[in-house]
Amino acid sequence: PVRVRFCPSPTGNPHVGLVRTALFNWAFARHHGGTLVFRIEDTDAARDSEESYQQLLDSMRWLGFDWDEGPEVGGPHAPYRQSQRMDIYQDVARKLLDGGHAYHCYCTTEELDARRDAARAAGKPSGYDGQCRVLTAEQKAAYDAEGRTSIVRFRMPDEPITFTDLVRGELTFTPENVPDFGIVRANGAPLYTLVNPVDDALMEITHVLRGEDLLSSTPRQIALYRALAQIGVGNGTTPQFGHLPYVMGEGNKKLSKRDPQASLNLYRERGFLPEGLLNYLSLLGWSLSADQDIFTMEEMVAAFDIKDVNANPARFDLKKCESINGDHMRRMDVKAFIEACGPWLKAPFAPWAPEAFDQTVFEAIAPHAQTRLTVLSDITANVDFLFLDEPAYDEASWAKAMKEGSDALLRTARAKLAAAEWNAEALKAAVLAAGEEHGLKLGKAQAPVRVAVTGRTVGLPLFESLEILGRERTLARIDAALA
Ligand code: GLU
Repeated sequence: PVRVRFCPSPTGNPHVGLVRTALFNWAFARHHGGTLVFRIEDTDAARDSEESYQQLLDSMRWLGFDWDEGPEVGGPHAPYRQSQRMDIYQDVARKLLDGGHAYHCYCTTEELDARRDAARAAGKPSGYDGQCRVLTAEQKAAYDAEGRTSIVRFRMPDEPITFTDLVRGELTFTPENVPDFGIVRANGAPLYTLVNPVDDALMEITHVLRGEDLLSSTPRQIALYRALAQIGVGNGTTPQFGHLPYVMGEGNKKLSKRDPQASLNLYRERGFLPEGLLNYLSLLGWSLSADQDIFTMEEMVAAFDIKDVNANPARFDLKKCESINGDHMRRMDVKAFIEACGPWLKAPFAPWAPEAFDQTVFEAIAPHAQTRLTVLSDITANVDFLFLDEPAYDEASWAKAMKEGSDALLRTARAKLAAAEWNAEALKAAVLAAGEEHGLKLGKAQAPVRVAVTGRTVGLPLFESLEILGRERTLARIDAALA
């Protein structure tokens, strides 16, 4: 049975790279009818925070992910927070020491640095040189007497490590490139290098799907897995690994956690739909088919195969992300769309007084917005003219639309609108006719009307907007603009 895990560290806000990793693991688990384990890697007390932990859970729920084992749901391998599993790691470290798979290393940072520099200067591999691999009892006693502390270091095998990556094919790492590495700090704190594979072994993980940035730690984890099998920790099998491609941001640089564009919160605040965002993120390394880039999560789950993931870096394209989200908004039932807009029709987003809001008016304009917006938060500025006493004029729009001759046109338009029947079609005919009198096409003629009434040069279809705003308010705004 397939068992995969999503195991973030709760440091800072979740970012889109993390979400993509969660998504691919989730889709893989669901496709295979397997188990998704959600594990919290919070062994770094200095960087982890309770707030980030809560945010992670909240984000996972918002995205619509479910997990079979982990926080809030429990499971046979509980606890799923590494900070609550410390005695397990101490125990495994001791067994690794006892079995000769790890050793105490007394080298100081200064000594390590000096030897590394010397190795580099001589053109030799500069990783740990194995000096403490074979210390006698006397040497250890002497170091202890000196007051030196020691870390626990894992002994890498002397042969190359080869494995078949599910995305990249066969890879080989030679011993020079994978030196012995620390697994427990001098103060006794176990490191990520130990706890991550130990938990994968204990939780019987079958497939590790994670970002390419972790590829260099894979040979170490495979070696550790083999040692764990020998000391009887876990079920003795090594998981298969698949490394997801890098995500490139602006200027073709790796999208970093610190990049504002990478923060999941930003997408929530701008009103992306979870399905729209996930649809886009799935395309960072995968595709459903050459001619369909809009799909549901059910469709993704049905089709997802890790072998189809592309090893080449993926480019994060915000415009495409927005456009896919827009497609998902259009696919919504109008009722669901109206409901989803809810938060952006209230403070702190909405600039109008709460009592000025009218649900019926909103429901009349909503279908016009639904087909045009790409993110929910855009709803506020697109409908504010309906709920504010005066439109939110912006100087630049005003200057752009109110060119020479606009006054004359507006006067004519006002007269024709005042005489028209109050429906979109008749209002359009009125502005068209006003334009003709002034030698202007409809597009040019409607610009000053739009600015006078909505305050902006762009927005929802004008004549439907005027119809919904009503005769009285429309004419009053044109009068105010002419005054
Ligand atoms: N906690 C690690 C991270 O967030 C997990 C890495 C892994 O998937 O193995 O980078």
